[in-house]
Amino acid sequence: MSNARRAIGLDIGGTKIAGAVVAEDGSMLAELTEPTPDVSDAATMTALLLEMVEKLRAQHPDVVAIGVGAAGTVEWPTGRIRWAPNNAYRDWEIRAELESATGLPAVVDNDANVAGLAEARLGDTRWSDMILVTVGTGVGSGIVLGGKIYRGPHGLGAELGHIIVNPDGPRCGCGNYGCLEAYASGTALTHMGRESAADDPDGLIATLAREAGVEVTGQTVTKAALQGDLAAQELFGRLGRWLGVGIASMTTIFELEAVVIGGGLVHTGDLLLGPTRLAAREFAYALEARPLVPVVPGTFGSDAGKIGAALLALDHA
Ligand SMILES: [Zn+2]
Repeated sequence: MSNARRAIGLDIGGTKIAGAVVAEDGSMLAELTEPTPDVSDAATMTALLLEMVEKLRAQHPDVVAIGVGAAGTVEWPTGRIRWAPNNAYRDWEIRAELESATGLPAVVDNDANVAGLAEARLGDTRWSDMILVTVGTGVGSGIVLGGKIYRGPHGLGAELGHIIVNPDGPRCGCGNYGCLEAYASGTALTHMGRESAADDPDGLIATLAREAGVEVTGQTVTKAALQGDLAAQELFGRLGRWLGVGIASMTTIFELEAVVIGGGLVHTGDLLLGPTRLAAREFAYALEARPLVPVVPGTFGSDAGKIGAALLALDHA
């Protein structure tokens, strides 16, 4: 019955914008993906989002709301994106713009927040208290406590990708130094891959990039690692170890049922999760007294953001 209610979910990331028409049970009825424009300022992005909404709405005219999950610092409930480390938009009144252009109610939240909602509510295991950590262009996090997204007074918290794991570490996209994101993101994997290729021009990482006629990216490293290249696997080992260090601290702060991993890199499975779990255990606090928190892959992979954005929209429509 209520399953007939549908919303459009949009997930704005550093490299792509994914959209879908989603039913209340989380099923996706139509999907659409566009690359994030090189110039990702507010005006360009609004035009692109409206185009995507119109295409999805043409297929499903009965949608009742729009939900957006966006990378960056998103005010709740006003739906104004203040700032993002990996996108050019600033002080973007996205919620108001979508509502006035489409006539539909809209909600806008941080991308990892909405992905966390999807995983906690509709994942293979349902969680009451969990953190979703997304590993993609950046490292995002959504904290779900008592079944609800934790936002703080204005939605400006829960940025666990930018906790400092090493004050003497590399510069992060946010401008700070030694953030978890600077060590444990796809961007970090790209940096490590380029160093590795420069050190070993005959290695598989360098060779794959040369053959494809592209610069080394995290995807090159992933491809090499999946082909069994030890140098590439070692980079995943480093990335996963840092991720586990960050996760250990998250599990110290909160009592969690699980840390769920999502984002574009989770499809690499144990390549990423193996070293992450080892470090999360190595640095866990008081294992004699507190159970080890499992680190598990999410159910919805990179679909979690658009599903969660639509669920949130249906909650508020
Ligand atoms: Zn940072």
